[in-house]
Amino acid sequence: MLSTNAYAALSATTPLEPFEIERREPGENDVLLDIKYCGICHSDLHQARNEWQNSTYPMVPGHEIVGHVTRVGSAVTNFKVGDTVGIGCFVNSCRQCEPCKRGEEQYCKNTAFTYNSKDGDSTTYGGYSTQITVDQKYLLKVPAGIPLDAAAPLLCAGITTYKPLKFWGAGPGKKVAVVGLGGLGHMAVKIAKAMEAEVTVLSRSESKRPAAVALGADKYVAMNKPEEVASVAEYFDLIVDTVSAEHDIDAVLSLIKIGGTMVLVGVPPEGVKFNAHNLIGKRRVFAGSMIGGIAETQEMLDFCAAHKVAADIELIDIKDVNESFERMERGDVKYRFVIDCATLK
Ligand SMILES: [Zn+2]
Ligand SMILES: [Zn+2]
Repeated sequence: MLSTNAYAALSATTPLEPFEIERREPGENDVLLDIKYCGICHSDLHQARNEWQNSTYPMVPGHEIVGHVTRVGSAVTNFKVGDTVGIGCFVNSCRQCEPCKRGEEQYCKNTAFTYNSKDGDSTTYGGYSTQITVDQKYLLKVPAGIPLDAAAPLLCAGITTYKPLKFWGAGPGKKVAVVGLGGLGHMAVKIAKAMEAEVTVLSRSESKRPAAVALGADKYVAMNKPEEVASVAEYFDLIVDTVSAEHDIDAVLSLIKIGGTMVLVGVPPEGVKFNAHNLIGKRRVFAGSMIGGIAETQEMLDFCAAHKVAADIELIDIKDVNESFERMERGDVKYRFVIDCATLK
């Protein structure tokens, strides 16, 4: 086994602290990588604090992992020592079921998530650490052309927004709106722009207008200004809602064209409520989407490199991770914290 420095939550109520874990020696299909950077996703905080009631401890969070290959097993054909690679939200799946066969491994009933999960008999530990062993099937190539630290958040925030934008046809001539301008929302704006859609940010108030413009949004609608809201009534082909707090779904639905789609990628903990007339009266579709499969995550990375799309980040030392959790909770980050994993050594 390979003893590895990490940061872990030992309970739902204690801060993350230094913790040593064991990584497996690479088997014939495995790749060992030296982790350079790991993004901090909002779900890291939810799970570290057991807010989804499914946490096991000790927990090493982190599923936006990038680094370099240091060893490969004898049967590894796709990767070699020195390659720049990434790991997203899961590290294994059953490989037999319908979702696995069609490349939607995230919907497999036996997905091994990158942390707070089981892979066979062993507990998975995430990227707040210095190295990780992974099966080559669940490893991505990070193309040159985007800075590696800013590429890390693509492995979760990038694919979470790329997949619904692609699936529901964001592209030239399409009017796309993004609700919320956090880690997910800022990626949705950049990716939808790169897909050449017209992009509008919908936000509660005026406060994020300069930030939305800076990210390249074509329009901005402050939802507390009735005249602005009226100007985009029944306007959008697709709305990607990234907000994970309670908000007015009907107000957003009413901005969608006949037959258009609203897709949720954020999870408001108290659930969502809306008026059924708001769907029925305009043949609107209310949908959800969760991350993406391995092949489409690779496609997203290649797309982002080709279009020079990456996250806007604040790079941190691991010792500041608890403070970063608190700042993220307050929405005080533009737009993603990324851990410099060299500070774990
Ligand atoms: Zn995530
Ligand atoms: Zn499966």
